[in-house]
Amino acid sequence: MDDLLERLAGGDRRALSRAITLIESTRADHRERAVSLLSNLPDRQALRIGLSGTPGVGKSTFIEAFGTMLTEAGLRVAVLAVDPSSTRSGGSILGDKTRMERLSRDPNAFIRPSPSSAELGGVARRTREAVRLCEAAGFDVVLIETVGVGQSETLVAEMCDLFVLLLAPAGGDELQGVKRGIMEMADLVLVNKADGDLLGPARRTVADYAGALRLLRKRPQDPDGFPKALPVSAVSGAGLADAWQQMQDLADWRRQQGHFDRTRAAQARHWFEAEVRAGLLAQLASGEARRRMDQLGEAVAEGRAAPGEAAAEMLAALRG
Ligand code: GDP
Repeated sequence: MDDLLERLAGGDRRALSRAITLIESTRADHRERAVSLLSNLPDRQALRIGLSGTPGVGKSTFIEAFGTMLTEAGLRVAVLAVDPSSTRSGGSILGDKTRMERLSRDPNAFIRPSPSSAELGGVARRTREAVRLCEAAGFDVVLIETVGVGQSETLVAEMCDLFVLLLAPAGGDELQGVKRGIMEMADLVLVNKADGDLLGPARRTVADYAGALRLLRKRPQDPDGFPKALPVSAVSGAGLADAWQQMQDLADWRRQQGHFDRTRAAQARHWFEAEVRAGLLAQLASGEARRRMDQLGEAVAEGRAAPGEAAAEMLAALRG
């Protein structure tokens, strides 16, 4: 264990990979080692950037180009994914690597696909812990990619310092297609594919979203002008440097104003509570508690006990 921690802290990507496998394991002894590892990590900070967008908008192409730009600037970049629908196994890790071929061969990059789990809460928890491991391994930027499905953006936004929404150019009626909640979480809206024939539509889409973002209430943690919409092209590279500059400016501003650390503290607290809730639910689902639930449930179904009364009895039993 000490050896793993030492190699991880030294920035070894193989050790990072092994450590993530350990935290993803559901085996009780693995969990114990994972918790011990997580509580002994060196205190290092990366910029955590969440990236969301529907399939086909260009997330992998963007991450490949953006990530390579950052590693060329001397930064170490980790890419994690949160895909609730993922049933990926070993084979598709390869699939993921071919999505970002150049970055996956870059010694200053680390790419890890989504942990496969039926349950979004579990995926989120493991990804959050993986973020900590990447930070401990000395990565400067951690990109957390999510497909625009269900609740996954909210969970990713809750583990990030900045949240970026990637869109494709489209006609004016496209605005309705983006859920208001996602727009409200976005710090930057990047309209990708701003190249060739799509340049004009991309510029119009940027203008539409800039207008829509101005209508959203400005958040106290934002300087003037944010949230912002910008055009980028993952293929030509246009706009990527500007997008990175905007992300850094926003992060710097939040650091200076104290919002950065306050947000992280609130996120940590939130995840602590989520962890306790998940633990309680797991406790209810197995062993003695499960048997008691079944017994009481039957009694309620057969009219031998009132639901409220049975619930009170169950809760008393849990308190022990
Ligand atoms: P993802 O599903 O969001 O990961 O999207 P991909 O990165 O796989 O891209 C989907 C398609 O859009 C691919 O055919 C890409 O080549 C194309 N694409 C991605 N970025 C750009 C871009 O900046 N400009 C253009 N013209 N096409 C792009």
